[in-house]
Amino acid sequence: MICFSSPAILLKRTDVGDYDLIISFLSLHRGRISVIAKNAKKSRRRFSGLLEPFTKLDIVCRKSRNNGMPVLQEASMKSSYTGIRGALIETAYASYWTELIHGWLEDYKSQPGIYRLLDYCLDALDQKQVSPHVMSVIFQVRFMGLTGFSPHLESCMACARLIDDIRSNTVLFDLAKGGIVCNGCSAGEGRFQLPISKGTAKFISWIQANDADSAMRLRFNSQSLEEARHVLEAFVPYHLGRMPKSLKFLKDLR
Ligand SMILES: [Zn+2]
Repeated sequence: MICFSSPAILLKRTDVGDYDLIISFLSLHRGRISVIAKNAKKSRRRFSGLLEPFTKLDIVCRKSRNNGMPVLQEASMKSSYTGIRGALIETAYASYWTELIHGWLEDYKSQPGIYRLLDYCLDALDQKQVSPHVMSVIFQVRFMGLTGFSPHLESCMACARLIDDIRSNTVLFDLAKGGIVCNGCSAGEGRFQLPISKGTAKFISWIQANDADSAMRLRFNSQSLEEARHVLEAFVPYHLGRMPKSLKFLKDLR
């Protein structure tokens, strides 16, 4: 009766009646999946303390009798991320990343790169290896790369002038075009364009081109961090098509 087993990170829980929960996971082997956890609300022993936001588990699921949603059969804890759970800002970032992944991915489409990215970033956040603001910049840049939406930052998207040949120190990040435009090419489209220094654009490019370990060793100056965060937290929801609730909460919190 076993349908599959996989490491999995909890993305979302939804109450179903008085007894059950529907759980969405990002699983290593099957991508985003939704399963039903029977009696998880009613019984304290069943899955006790396991089905919390962004816990990392090993799960075993079986087919349901009527061919509906798979049923969560067993779960064992791989990491409960107590370092994240005990801190409000870290919890807010982890909630943003998991909401983003839940909203972006389709069910049963294996995305091992995204699983590894989330796993890596949650570990780093939990162990407080770098500031959570830096970690979220790294997460978003790499997430956009893995989903095929890497911003184009090497040259103006309208006239193709290379960033080093643009005279001004500031360019505009065009959310709809998904990259930078020089000031000469920016007329009339102000609503979806945010100013960004060339230094910050190069800095985001560098994170795109290198691995997360190297990016974590970078020294972020506060202006670049602020600009990168501002641009990414506009660019990502623009392509998602809505503002994640957890991002709004995060912004209020800061
Ligand atoms: Zn241009």
